[in-house]
Amino acid sequence: MQRLMTVVALVAASLVLEVGLCVAADRLTVASDFEGASIREVEIDEAARSISFMPGGDPVRGWPCWWYFRVDGITPGETITLRLRGSTATVPKPGAPPPKPLASSWAMPAQATFSLDGETWLHTEKGKRQDEWMIYTLKSAAASVFVAWGPPYTPSAAVKFVREMSEKSPHAKATELCRSRGDRAVPMLHVQEGDRTPEQRFGVWVQARQHAWESGSSWVAQGFAEWLLSDAADAAWLRQHAEIFIVPIMDVDNTATGNGGKDAQPQDHNRDWSAQPHWNEIIAAQRKVGDLIAAGRMDVFLDLHNPGPGDPTFFFTLPDDQLKEPMIGLRDRFIHLAYSRISKIKPLIPMSNKPNVAGASYTPLWRQMSANWVAMNGNPHTVSLCLETIWNSPNSTTEGYRAVGSNLAAAVREYLSERPERP
Ligand SMILES: [Zn+2]
Repeated sequence: MQRLMTVVALVAASLVLEVGLCVAADRLTVASDFEGASIREVEIDEAARSISFMPGGDPVRGWPCWWYFRVDGITPGETITLRLRGSTATVPKPGAPPPKPLASSWAMPAQATFSLDGETWLHTEKGKRQDEWMIYTLKSAAASVFVAWGPPYTPSAAVKFVREMSEKSPHAKATELCRSRGDRAVPMLHVQEGDRTPEQRFGVWVQARQHAWESGSSWVAQGFAEWLLSDAADAAWLRQHAEIFIVPIMDVDNTATGNGGKDAQPQDHNRDWSAQPHWNEIIAAQRKVGDLIAAGRMDVFLDLHNPGPGDPTFFFTLPDDQLKEPMIGLRDRFIHLAYSRISKIKPLIPMSNKPNVAGASYTPLWRQMSANWVAMNGNPHTVSLCLETIWNSPNSTTEGYRAVGSNLAAAVREYLSERPERP
């Protein structure tokens, strides 16, 4: 009898356990109350353990293609489903019909990005298109998982990064480009080594993220800085012969608030390089770059972006008829050196050796794009380029982006080592 009771109790206990497991699956919830988060139109199907959503972001503050949020309530080990569709938001313009929503492909990487700790970012398996939906599945080892369009890079991450670099290296100084209109710090890293005076140094300017949704470009900037402050002899050469400014995030406000930034009102950051810029970051960058130009040492200016969904990595340049020698030859030499390195990265980062041209046929505001502005207002020898790094490839990861940055930095070193030393 005693034994029978034990068996009954065990069976009962296991029943309770099974029922308990069923009941204990927490409700899936979505959190977006943190820096850089963006999501709207959330619908959660508890039975299917699936979350339907579209990118958030105020379309007045740029293309609504960036999404980033946290899912809580996962039973560790279970597979959840993310159902993404393009934003239906439009930007009404007075007197004009509402423009169409942004093509959903901008919001739909072949693989979504996720992280269990907010530090290490991995790709999901490839998503599947179903009508207007992109369906990603994700097996999470933890109860909470961050998911995003691509690896996030927030203003806090930029603050932390420039501080860590300055603590690691006596040649790096964490500083601020300016305060944004939203009163946020715009972190900047200033790097130089040794006794050369400013006049004896090449000027190098690297900026990313004039478009807030293009998070990969910040990782490229980080990779540039990491290489620059590494023990490599070539990196030391560059620190000793140049003065380098690196701004990982230009549009900190839209990055912090999860807005897209591109085509924001009243002015896209990368159409704001005019005689009277609207944004504090552009005012400050123009002034500092202007100082380098005035000193005749605006040697290399690099503006980092991510391109369209189907594009490889490539440079944007001005049309040749807008440039004089030696600028054209120097630019082509730099592109050759950068392409030679970046196209050899393993695993592969697809890159085109043919630059695209950003002139009058690209946008009526072509003169107000940063790299164009610097080329047209720079020194005769200035190399000023926009680099678009592929975001929709299996290697568009933090490692892949950082590899592009480190190879870009090595190309800057190689290029400058061919230039006459400053007296
Ligand atoms: Zn861009």
